[in-house]
Amino acid sequence: MLHFTFLGTSSGVPTLTRNVSALAIRNSKNKDWILVDAGEGTQHRIQQAKLSLQSLVAICITHVHGDHCYGLVGLLASAGMNARNAPLTIIAPKEIQQWIEATAQLTDLHLPYSLNFIDVNQATQILRITDELSIRVHPLSHRVPSFAFSIIAQYTQKKLDTQALIQLGVPKGKVWGDLQQGLDVQFNEQTLKAVDFIQIKMQRAHAIVGGDNDRPELLAQACQDAQLLIHESTYTQAILDKVGSGPMHSSAKMVAEFAQQQGLSNLILTHFSPRHQDNAGQQAIAEEIRQFYQGNFFLAHDFDQFGLDETGRLSKIDKP
Ligand SMILES: [Zn+2]
Ligand SMILES: [Zn+2]
Repeated sequence: MLHFTFLGTSSGVPTLTRNVSALAIRNSKNKDWILVDAGEGTQHRIQQAKLSLQSLVAICITHVHGDHCYGLVGLLASAGMNARNAPLTIIAPKEIQQWIEATAQLTDLHLPYSLNFIDVNQATQILRITDELSIRVHPLSHRVPSFAFSIIAQYTQKKLDTQALIQLGVPKGKVWGDLQQGLDVQFNEQTLKAVDFIQIKMQRAHAIVGGDNDRPELLAQACQDAQLLIHESTYTQAILDKVGSGPMHSSAKMVAEFAQQQGLSNLILTHFSPRHQDNAGQQAIAEEIRQFYQGNFFLAHDFDQFGLDETGRLSKIDKP
């Protein structure tokens, strides 16, 4: 239902193996996708992941720090050069709009499509992006205002009540097909009403993608309804204690304890400090998570892909 591709998982600066923050979330029923954050170089990552800027329906920027947004203007310009003409929604701090407008003016940039800016501070309601995708904003705690985004995919599925039809002795074939189409049909001098044989099932997938944040508990309420939390885990607790609370990031322990308390079933960690990117560093983060959290978790690498289905099961998708 929701398909995730990590385009950047390094905090602060890009490294040889990881780019700075960006995450693509696609509706698995079609090509519509949402980009959360756009660190420098994101458009190159988008090409490598074979995602099209034409089917991008919204961009969410968690906060104004460069490792989360310096790739945005270049990406918008490239979409224009590729003749995109559909309007694009950008949900971001209002400074992002000012920055894009100033850059467009100073660098002779004229986009052939319109940008629909939504100031994260004003976004108190659920934002409907397409018929099936919607977004909700949650405030976090960081050195500058930072936000998390609920990405919700919702579908209605119509299923024919075949058991009831079999019981009535209605043979498979045209009658079943017509009822499935919503048509009432005559059968053995009886009118079968489609509404009586169609079961409508709502299917929903809900993931929360956080920006930089040193208080995971701010997401407690939002997480009650979520099947997956994607959160930064910049350091282990030992390194965070050494670095101090100034940068306002979360340790693996902080996120793990929060997820455990919430009874969250799935967790993906990202935004790792360069010092945690080698095998030993990743292992230290994984061990700390395992110590405090019993659910299903992954540490994201660039180009990792995951699927979240309607039953709330998260799985890693093997690369071809
Ligand atoms: Zn960051
Ligand atoms: Zn930051």
